[in-house]
Amino acid sequence: MNAAIPVPRQAEEIIEKLNQNGFEAYVVGGCVRDSLLGREPGDWDITTSARPAQVKAIFGRTIDTGIKHGTVTIMRGKTGYEVTTFRIDGIYEDGRHPKSVEFTSDLLEDLKRRDFTINAMAYSRKTGLIDAFGGMDDLRNGRIRCVGRAEDRFTEDALRILRALRFAAQLGFEIEAETEAAVRLLAPKLVQVSRERIQTELTKLLLSPNPDQMRLVFACGAEPYVSETFAQIRPEQIAVDPQLPSRKALRWAAFLRHETPEAAARILRELKLDNETIARVRLLTEWWRQPVGQTQAEIRRTMSRMLPETCDDLLLLKESVLRYDRGAQAGTAEIPEWDRIPETLEDMARLQSQTAEIRGRGDCISLKMLAVTGQDLIRLGMRPGRELGTTLEAMLAEVIERPERNTKEYLLRRFSGDAGTDCCRP
Ligand code: ATP
Ligand code: MG
Repeated sequence: MNAAIPVPRQAEEIIEKLNQNGFEAYVVGGCVRDSLLGREPGDWDITTSARPAQVKAIFGRTIDTGIKHGTVTIMRGKTGYEVTTFRIDGIYEDGRHPKSVEFTSDLLEDLKRRDFTINAMAYSRKTGLIDAFGGMDDLRNGRIRCVGRAEDRFTEDALRILRALRFAAQLGFEIEAETEAAVRLLAPKLVQVSRERIQTELTKLLLSPNPDQMRLVFACGAEPYVSETFAQIRPEQIAVDPQLPSRKALRWAAFLRHETPEAAARILRELKLDNETIARVRLLTEWWRQPVGQTQAEIRRTMSRMLPETCDDLLLLKESVLRYDRGAQAGTAEIPEWDRIPETLEDMARLQSQTAEIRGRGDCISLKMLAVTGQDLIRLGMRPGRELGTTLEAMLAEVIERPERNTKEYLLRRFSGDAGTDCCRP
């Protein structure tokens, strides 16, 4: 690991300008950690001895992002750089937020308030790496370790407990012994953390290269404090293929697949996931063990039950379960009963190409693709309502069997009897 960090020119210029005005400034936290690991940082945070008012005076146009906590954002093109004054967090009252923050001119005080040693390093071209807590050593050894006494740090802010697990999964690191003991001891404090924040951390963990590390939540006894029904998940059933594309619905579905669709949806609602993700996970948990179909018509019928994206996700999920379990068992043991699905990996390859073919041809698999619309039926005298819906569904069912019949002419002739009887009703 090389300690010269490729700071973007714009961040460099912000730091230089602060320096010219007599202030210290560094890039800090996640971007330093990720750069040292050779990972692309998400954003570049800057920490400075300048007070927010001074930063604003120097840069003119700034955005008050978190002015109370000393953060202003400086825009450079489309990129925002958060510049935060060195600070000491006051007393934590609710196990989550400091009651007050105090500004300081001492960088070390600012680094001390940060959660883990690997997140508590600062860097500037002028000073090089500032690593006061052995962060570099922990990076080299793949360790998540609290800055200071772990029990104190988790008591101050219980969110750090989940951040520890999440970083372990994202970076493939171990949690150092004292920190891990404190995680176990203080896991009940997670009740003080908002469900949204819990969810963000768990989602990041699932989207990471080590999604199976979700087991850590159970290993440290945190599961009862995640949400009302989260603890009903059986940790021995957790098996999320890291090769599964890193998408929210897909990874949550893989993780929750042994729950009923209702139970999975409930857990996700408790965790405040968005409705679209919940709907997708519900469909995926409902379908992953059901056969997609052998014949083209059967496959079209399955496809018609969900959005095209969800159908693609369904195939990916099935394939990943087959592949991962097979890999894990490596021919020695049976695939666990709870992961048996009706297809084989060969079937999945066939289904991939069959669904692509069906789509390529444009076979009708949804009401939207039907040659007849509700308007057509109304024009023919049918009243809007249930019967109209049923007629369209019957048309769809027929063209799913026989795609060539998806023409207005055929369908209206074939179903005109139904339309006729309906429109003649009193
Ligand atoms: P990510 O890759 O998710 O952005 P990050 O480490 O950059 O990871 P942020 O939430 O962006 O995480 O926080 C930036 C920095 O602020 C962290 O690196 C850490 O130094 C500090 N920090 C963030 N959250 C906490 C917290 N709850 N307690 C203490 N320090 C924190
Ligand atoms: Mg960050």
